[in-house]
Amino acid sequence: MPLGSDYASQACSMARALEVVGERWTLLILRDCFYGVRRFTDLHRHLGVPKAVLAARLDALTEAGVLRREEPGPARVEYVLTARGADLWPVLHALYGWGERHTTAVPRRRIFRHVGCDAELDGAGRCPVCATAPGPGEVEVHPGPGLAGEPEPTEPVGRALLAPQRLLEPLT
Ligand SMILES: [Zn+2]
Repeated sequence: MPLGSDYASQACSMARALEVVGERWTLLILRDCFYGVRRFTDLHRHLGVPKAVLAARLDALTEAGVLRREEPGPARVEYVLTARGADLWPVLHALYGWGERHTTAVPRRRIFRHVGCDAELDGAGRCPVCATAPGPGEVEVHPGPGLAGEPEPTEPVGRALLAPQRLLEPLT
């Protein structure tokens, strides 16, 4: 059942958070934003999300203060996570971990590492070396063994993610 309009009337903080991030595609768009994907075309090609849906989600996330729309050059528009958006990192990492444990047939397609310690984050997003939960700006996404055997990506984002990538830094 789609989220009804009465969702907004719920006082629960989770219901209010889901008003912002609970629609289909939204969390995957945000995942790509953490990977450093900033442009509409790149999001469209990497996710395969219909353009009208992507436009609506980006507008809603911008309206909610999760993304910021920037125009760094002529005819170039980028969507960048705000501090409010970057604060979703523990949510996305935890959801990724849950998926790894309970839903996926091919785990470890991506691995998240604390840059300073060069160590893989645990399921709670903590680094086993320094015992902190580093913010996304201190985390790299690496291609994992689960990618082996998959066809070579043909779009720029998939190709760029074959190398380690610091979260939040522009990917393409
Ligand atoms: Zn560490």
